[in-house]
Amino acid sequence: MQMHLLSCIFNVVFNTSLDLSCDIRVSELEAALEATRAANDGQLPYEMVLQLDRSQQHLMARDGGLNAKKMRKGRGYEDANPHIRSSVWPRQPVDIRQENCRADGSCEKCKAELAEYKEKHGNSDDFQAIGWKGLAMLASERGTPNAAAFNVEQLVEIVEAYDDFRDEVSAVEAVLNSHGHRAIIGAECHSVSPPAHLRFVTCLILTCDLAGVSIH
Ligand SMILES: [Zn+2]
Repeated sequence: MQMHLLSCIFNVVFNTSLDLSCDIRVSELEAALEATRAANDGQLPYEMVLQLDRSQQHLMARDGGLNAKKMRKGRGYEDANPHIRSSVWPRQPVDIRQENCRADGSCEKCKAELAEYKEKHGNSDDFQAIGWKGLAMLASERGTPNAAAFNVEQLVEIVEAYDDFRDEVSAVEAVLNSHGHRAIIGAECHSVSPPAHLRFVTCLILTCDLAGVSIH
């Protein structure tokens, strides 16, 4: 919530000419940002980069995040497994239920995600629903031959190596990214009680990045 608010305030102040002292509706902010993008080759001129410590909250997985360790080998069930969010993967010659995690196409979450994807990307057919599918089905849909012959550990290793699973972001990063901003999660632990040397390391990295040459 705070990250969402912070992101919106940043965009009002730096990427629009809206007056922060007045009530601003979300629709007004979105329209103003769209106008700024249109005037700047589709990009917002300013983005926020937040350097965050490595606290549990900052690393907390987002809802339905791509996490192979939470998936079973076989198809999951609503009371036992999370519904993993959809992703994008090049369509393979042999396709199995790429648009919905249920064989009868009845999953409302998958339907909503597909509709959102089509609105953003038109009819590009790389959308892949994951949902309740198990590791074996996912690997099979992504072109692993005879995926059902692998055990869970082997399948987790295969699935975790896919770019989208490997690059999965935390909940906080996902909020920032959705507003066009970024997070750098540093080496430092929670800021209240980090060992002094870890704090020092983070400061050095930051100083190097920002100043280029000099370390103070
Ligand atoms: Zn689904």
